[in-house]
Amino acid sequence: MHRAPRRHDVVVVGAGSAGYAAARTARDVGCDVALVDKGPLGGLCILRGCMPSKTLLASSDALQDAREARALGIGIENMTADMPFIAARKRELVREFAEYRIEGIHDFRLYLGAARFLSPTQLAVGDAAVLEAETFIIATGSVVHAGIVPGLADVGYVDSDAVLELEAIPKSVVVLGGGYTACELGQFLARMGARTTLLIRSGHCLTETDDDVGKALTEYFREERIDVITHATLVGAERRKGEKVVRYLHGGEECEVAAEEIFYALGRVPNTQGLDLEKAGVVCEAGGAITVDGHLRTSNPGIYAVGDVTAEYMLVHVAIYQGEVAARNACLDAGEDADYRIVAAHTVFTDPQYAAVGATEKELRRKRVAYVSGRYDFAEHGKAQCLGKTKGFVKMMAARESGQILGAAVLGPQASELIHEVIVAMRFDATVDQFMRIPHLHPTLAEIWTYPAEACAAQLGRKIPGDEQVEMATSVPL
Ligand SMILES: Cc1cc2nc3c(=O)[nH]c(=O)nc-3n(C[C@H](O)[C@H](O)[C@H](O)COP(=O)(O)OP(=O)(O)OC[C@H]3O[C@@H](n4cnc5c(N)ncnc54)[C@H](O)[C@@H]3O)c2cc1C
Repeated sequence: MHRAPRRHDVVVVGAGSAGYAAARTARDVGCDVALVDKGPLGGLCILRGCMPSKTLLASSDALQDAREARALGIGIENMTADMPFIAARKRELVREFAEYRIEGIHDFRLYLGAARFLSPTQLAVGDAAVLEAETFIIATGSVVHAGIVPGLADVGYVDSDAVLELEAIPKSVVVLGGGYTACELGQFLARMGARTTLLIRSGHCLTETDDDVGKALTEYFREERIDVITHATLVGAERRKGEKVVRYLHGGEECEVAAEEIFYALGRVPNTQGLDLEKAGVVCEAGGAITVDGHLRTSNPGIYAVGDVTAEYMLVHVAIYQGEVAARNACLDAGEDADYRIVAAHTVFTDPQYAAVGATEKELRRKRVAYVSGRYDFAEHGKAQCLGKTKGFVKMMAARESGQILGAAVLGPQASELIHEVIVAMRFDATVDQFMRIPHLHPTLAEIWTYPAEACAAQLGRKIPGDEQVEMATSVPL
């Protein structure tokens, strides 16, 4: 390779959600930007993440709604789940989303090929080009965590990429893991007809959540006959009589579960392989994540890292936010700190859905923050009763002194939409009494938030003068 290096102000490596956001922001403030990607173009979210998974879940949710419709007096006979149709619909939508994104990517000076650093200021793109810049933004995403269970590679399994490509549902599946991918797609497989077992190391699904949320979701899974085995330590896998067998330790005893397929859902790891980061002076943590400071700068101050490759939350909106912050810091010397207090809000598209913003109770207790909290069950809520969607609850936490909302969580219908109200409130540092002044339409699911807010306010001894609704609501049973 003897080509003269091509100079750009900023080179962004990876054209997924984080890289695309970084490139767009850098371009919008007047920088000459190059975008590098090894392909396929489109990014994880569109090709093998959020969009294909939520398209599949829309079908299994519709199937479940039809099953539950009898409770509303609607009988549906001869229901079918047409997996080839569902898979084709997903392919078509993904193709359309990707086409749109790729059109946007082509607006940039695009270099196709695998990137690797030659020095702190030079990057090779395959054998085709060498790029030179004072500033690089690395956004190379993540890869499926390589199988760590002895025997699993020989037995064979599907990971989250392969599950999304299934054209037929296996008769039975063992899901390894209890994170959001395991829960969302495990429930999808179960509802589509697979006898499903989740093997989870901790005491409930979604380990990071508060126990009340994780335990409730685990129970809902069990109610719909998903076998959730908690406190399971994986030992190995083998093939026996045409089935795939997973062995695990449970209560000190070795147990096993057999199924037609194994779904490996133990997470993803940052993708830094082949980038030759040491030649650029970029340091990684033990797990492979690129170490960044608050400004998203790596150990080399001219190089930033954003998105899954930093292992910070691994969510699309966080990836986009990081891309924008890093680009502003790189191009405008903005000195902006990435602030995850509200940005790290997240949701899980199980049924019932889960969503949360701000601190969990676990976190508040760990940090010894003085707080009050209120909870209200959907089973007690009028609109949820009308809809026949009564699983789950909402809760809100507020600072004991100021009444400022510190966090909130929903397990329940439309949780991914409902959480936005509290995200907005927290974005403007609202207190629970200010929150109570927000009018809520009736009857809506959203008005359920008034109850935990009122419960918090009551504990703080606050009420809004002259507001009868509040007088009334503080006496709501908690
Ligand atoms: C099944 C599943 C469901 C998900 N659902 C959700 C959800 O509902 N909500 C949510 O917020 N998040 C979800 N996520 C996570 C979300 O998809 C990721 O957090 C997000 O897409 C990461 O974006 P990124 O830009 O960091 O990485 P990516 O989108 O992976 O982009 C990385 C880019 O870098 C390129 N690249 C890699 N190496 C090189 C190299 N050496 N040279 C050049 N280019 C390179 C790749 O080709 C790719 O285009 C889901 C993930 C999965 C797997």
